Amino acid sequence: MPEQSDIDYVAQEEGVDASKLANLVRAGRAVVVRNLRRSIKPLGIGEGLRTKVNANVGLSPRASTPEKEVKKALVALKHGADTIMDLSTGPYLKKTLSAILRHIDAPIGTVPVYQAFGERGFDMTSDSIFRVIEDQCKKGVDFITVHCGIKREYAKKLRGCDRLIPITSKGGAALAAWMLRTGEENPLYADYDHLLDIAREYNVVLSLGDALRPAALHDAGDFFQMAELKTLGELTKRSRERGVQVIVEGPGHMPLDMIEKHVREQKKICGGAPYYVLGPLVTDTALGYDHISGAIGGAIAAASGVDFLCYVTPSEHYSLPGEDDVKRGVIASKIAAHAGDIVKLGKRGEDDTISEARSHLDWHTMARYAMDEATKQRVLEIADSEPCTMCGDLCAMKISQSFVVSKKKR
Ligand code: SF4
Repeated sequence: MPEQSDIDYVAQEEGVDASKLANLVRAGRAVVVRNLRRSIKPLGIGEGLRTKVNANVGLSPRASTPEKEVKKALVALKHGADTIMDLSTGPYLKKTLSAILRHIDAPIGTVPVYQAFGERGFDMTSDSIFRVIEDQCKKGVDFITVHCGIKREYAKKLRGCDRLIPITSKGGAALAAWMLRTGEENPLYADYDHLLDIAREYNVVLSLGDALRPAALHDAGDFFQMAELKTLGELTKRSRERGVQVIVEGPGHMPLDMIEKHVREQKKICGGAPYYVLGPLVTDTALGYDHISGAIGGAIAAASGVDFLCYVTPSEHYSLPGEDDVKRGVIASKIAAHAGDIVKLGKRGEDDTISEARSHLDWHTMARYAMDEATKQRVLEIADSEPCTMCGDLCAMKISQSFVVSKKKR
């Protein structure tokens, strides 16, 4: 469980009552993320708190370097990401994680099975998985995705399933293949108590991964997604009994008219645990623009009660993202999170400020809210009280100043 000083810090940042937040954390409806070994600012995720945005970085065996991934993480933070997940795979995984932990002053998440499977493949054992988990926790990782909910019985059923995409999760696919090859149960499920011991020692938040999340609209809400979610609900309960903080991961791809109902169901099954979704992407057809598809789903999800959005970049589904992809992905998810918070938390103060500035042609105030530096500079080029090039003399703001007595002038 987090330290009281971390709870106090988060309460102040979020403008909520500290004792109320402490109760929510105790009940497992909110978490405070910070590995006890790191001296970063703690971050709150969950009920009553601003919707947070995660940006994934990490190299693959085919592309990038540790330095480039640190740079991408810095770009993500600059544009408003709250957390960074290092999803590196391949021989430079450890080097990249060390660099990210050294340079990034924000909560860091990982998927330890990438390292465990990468090092030993099908010779991976329960011991080797837990060794990697403990090692990453010792290094200071703040939250870890652990695919505890994919049981061997679910993996077996994937063989003849009618899904369009049987499995999209890298860690989940590795575990499923390992279980089917060895005949053993998923160690993250079978030895869950061991995992809880490690997480408790370092105050690492467990992000219960959704190995069986739908990766196509066709597969949304099917047997695999819901069976795994029910298992995650049971594991969430066990975590609470042991005082370990947990968030639950979700889809994926989902038609937008299913999202609200699904979020309510997740909250019910997992006793109000914070919900962390990838997107959700509301169409499968937006290749090159999946950050927009993800933001549409993310806004609906956040408005419906989701607490944490994992960004989606324009290069989702076809390439490792570059810096510009990271920037676009974070901005899209930030807009989605804020749009959701307007509904979920009634947080509309900044929207009214910029609208008022707009009505007064106050370009300096508007520039403060620009989502990136290039836009800010373009807005600042316009002199105050002058219309922009869109309407010129037909500027409705300018014309209305001649007959509307604004609140500012009264
Ligand atoms: S010119 Fe048109 S777009 Fe530009 S500020 Fe005026 S009303 Fe808005």
